Amino acid sequence: MQIAERIRNLGTETAFAVSGEARAFAEAGNAVYPFHLGDIDMRTPDNIIHAAHQAMLAGKTGYAPNAGIPELREALAADVNRARGSSYTAANVAVQPGGKPVIGKFIQALMNPGDEALFPNPGYPIYESQIEYFGGKAVPYAYIPGENNFRLDFDALERAVSPKTRLLIFNDLQNPTGAESSREELEAVARFAVKHDLKVLCDEAYFDIRYGGDSVSLSSFPGMEESCVILYTFSKKFAMTGWRLGAAIGPVDVIDVIARINLNDESCSNHFIQIAAVEALKGDQSGPRKILEVLRERRDLGVDILNSIPGVSCYRPNATFYLYPDVTELMKAKGLEDYEAFRKDVLYKTGVSFCTRLHFGRALPGEDRNYIRLAYSGIDADLIRKGLGLLKEYAQA
Ligand code: PLP
Repeated sequence: MQIAERIRNLGTETAFAVSGEARAFAEAGNAVYPFHLGDIDMRTPDNIIHAAHQAMLAGKTGYAPNAGIPELREALAADVNRARGSSYTAANVAVQPGGKPVIGKFIQALMNPGDEALFPNPGYPIYESQIEYFGGKAVPYAYIPGENNFRLDFDALERAVSPKTRLLIFNDLQNPTGAESSREELEAVARFAVKHDLKVLCDEAYFDIRYGGDSVSLSSFPGMEESCVILYTFSKKFAMTGWRLGAAIGPVDVIDVIARINLNDESCSNHFIQIAAVEALKGDQSGPRKILEVLRERRDLGVDILNSIPGVSCYRPNATFYLYPDVTELMKAKGLEDYEAFRKDVLYKTGVSFCTRLHFGRALPGEDRNYIRLAYSGIDADLIRKGLGLLKEYAQA
């Protein structure tokens, strides 16, 4: 088959390839310690499963409205308003089969070919892929080491903007670094977006995955509610990655366009899953609280062990379920300069599987430290202890 030319610009999420390798290694009879994928090994809370089951038995198995069922759109608007101080209504919500589809639909709705779009690097790889696929120019800005955590390189953001820049993709509570902007920094980003008349995708996939204090949304700063689209997902907070449900939340004119794209792409999101999502938002919240408690314990365990490994240093992020340790000295000590060589050496010698900087965009000029990303959402405390213990032995060998 002659594949269409546009596909040349379509990227991928290379973390899934790491999964394939880890699986093959496990199938060959080896113990694997899975730190590579942001999936969750905990079951969706029972009240949500029960609500889906009941809805199926009640016949909610047909098509649903293309922007989502009214009860869920209303419940999402209310939930987002409560946490962000916004004033959205159901009309501001377009339900999606996952958070991920919001990225491409936001770009399709607001970017013309040739426009520039700012995206975080290191960052979630789908941004760059979708910007380029839809004919834009993807322009990176950086997250860099700070005092207690990674931080947005605001100077780099200001340098990256041009008269052609139309979009800003912003992922506070960031994958892969776990970075979180201060209120002052969010204020500065909002002013920057207003000054340059940028439309902003607020990817808030990890808004509720935090271990103290409250998340603050960029959408809550002056001028932002009018120009932001929030990416909301049920995947992380409710351990619903495989159910595929999320939403785009933003100004009605953009949401109407996104709903029209829904109609062309998947028609609608699954009806009984939307009913279960209403239960997730309005029902018993002990499930997501328990998920967070487990994640916090894993984070502390992971950070403590990583910081005891020679040649490794790691911040303790207050949000997300990722750790992004600096492994520069360990790679040097092992005589390995190449990320893939290091990743494979560790996988095949210890079974510890992770992603590296390379899975989150091309390294930027001047970047001279080496990082790997460990997700602790899909591996229990026992395996964290064993796996990172083996990594420590590898480092000491
Ligand atoms: N945005 C970020 C930053 C993510 O890390 C992810 C998933 O890992 C998503 C969006 C999309 O998640 P989902 O499609 O499961 O909602």
